[in-house]
Amino acid sequence: MIEVVNPATEEVIGTLAEGTPADVDAAVAAAVKAFPSWAATSADERVKVVRAIIDGLKERAGELAAAMTREMGTPLTFSQKVQVANPVAIAEGVADVLERGYFEPEEIGNSLVFREPVGVVAAITPWNFPLQQMVAKVVPALAAGNTVVLKPSELAPHTADLLAEIVAAATPAGVFQLVHGTGAVVGEALAAHPEVDMVSFTGSTKAGRRVSAVAAETVKRVALELGGKSACVVLDDADFGRAVKIAVANSFMNNGQACSAWTRLLVPAERHDEAVELAAQAARKYTPADPADPSTRIGPAVSKAQRDRVVGYIRKGVEEGATLAAGGPEAPLPQGFYVAPTVFGGVTPEMTIAQEEIFGPVLSVMPYADEDDAVRIANSTIYGLAGAVFSADTERALRIARRLRTGQVDINAAAFNTSAPFGGYRQSGNGREFGRFGLDEFCEVKSVQR
Ligand code: NAD
Repeated sequence: MIEVVNPATEEVIGTLAEGTPADVDAAVAAAVKAFPSWAATSADERVKVVRAIIDGLKERAGELAAAMTREMGTPLTFSQKVQVANPVAIAEGVADVLERGYFEPEEIGNSLVFREPVGVVAAITPWNFPLQQMVAKVVPALAAGNTVVLKPSELAPHTADLLAEIVAAATPAGVFQLVHGTGAVVGEALAAHPEVDMVSFTGSTKAGRRVSAVAAETVKRVALELGGKSACVVLDDADFGRAVKIAVANSFMNNGQACSAWTRLLVPAERHDEAVELAAQAARKYTPADPADPSTRIGPAVSKAQRDRVVGYIRKGVEEGATLAAGGPEAPLPQGFYVAPTVFGGVTPEMTIAQEEIFGPVLSVMPYADEDDAVRIANSTIYGLAGAVFSADTERALRIARRLRTGQVDINAAAFNTSAPFGGYRQSGNGREFGRFGLDEFCEVKSVQR
């Protein structure tokens, strides 16, 4: 059994049966058996199933939000407004794409090109946006006619159980399976399984590398959504106060645990000190507190191990010579895995805190000399997930956005789009989720010449 811990109280709130390779074999066998009849359903029938899942998510929104807050510490208001609302929007986006004729064959010369399901899809997901990551895989995979075996994070299992109830109620037996357990046992058994046709993985770059290596043995299709170290570039003509405040909010979102968080704030060198002061002031307004309180903006790290890791990075930043402007390694509360919202100034590209994903509320302010220098620094990590540009001139911001080697860039804090492709360049992965591009991942294409 695995113990499930509330990170705000450190109390054990449940236990979880740890799956074995035999459980994986049983789940995959059921998915293989269910595949032919599910793959033969029409797109219209599958849209109905997606709509039933959406209804289920909406009906159980309160339970889902509470479960996420309890098991991974995301502030309740954020849980309701983002952690539940985004998955609903993502699933609606998938239904809309199907209704617009996504599965109609395409004519290319004398060929008819069909989109067909890949087969049995293993979905392996993390804990930080647990519902969103499960929905962003399970819903398009099912909508494309695949059968699915889900291995959710062992840190957010209750959320997964709620989703499983919703999906199971909407689908025929065998079409959707869930196996709880650890990555090393259940995750790797799925990645290695000869009858799994595809692995869709979201998590750390380290685990993604391992999944790729294990899956390579059977030449599976592997879609990876991995870590990030995204940069927010504030240009000299931007509304500086607004940009810094938004960058702080973005990097502390979900207790600093977002793959696409702008954890590096790049500012013109001559305005560096002003930016650090503004960021530190903004950071001090984030008071770590009980995530179940609707007024809380920042809660604890997900686990003791994660808290210790983040504090280790804060110590490393001090050791390597960055200036601590807010927060620090001391625990802000006596109980719970809380980390003080932290801002570093004078961070240079070779420092560990500028290179590695910290996954906690730690923002690094970095000076740049000119636009070319800003682009060079932004592109100077192994990652390439997201980024941001602030400027009074949208065309100028767009030119910078095009030079960032990342899967998405937000200009002047534009809204998150749950139908636009989301994914990484370089070691942030190779997949794309959401909308039409997200469906492409879960389809084979077949050309028939006439
Ligand atoms: P993690 O890599 O530890 O675990 C993710 C999932 O993979 C879990 O279900 C885990 O049990 C499983 N796993 C771990 N090792 C495995 C292995 N050897 N084989 C198979 N499965 C394995 O990541 P995490 O701590 O749960 O999540 C945080 C990480 O996820 C961060 O790096 C974050 O950037 C990344 N992330 C990326 C995206 C994205 O869309 N790119 C979104 C959210 C999170």
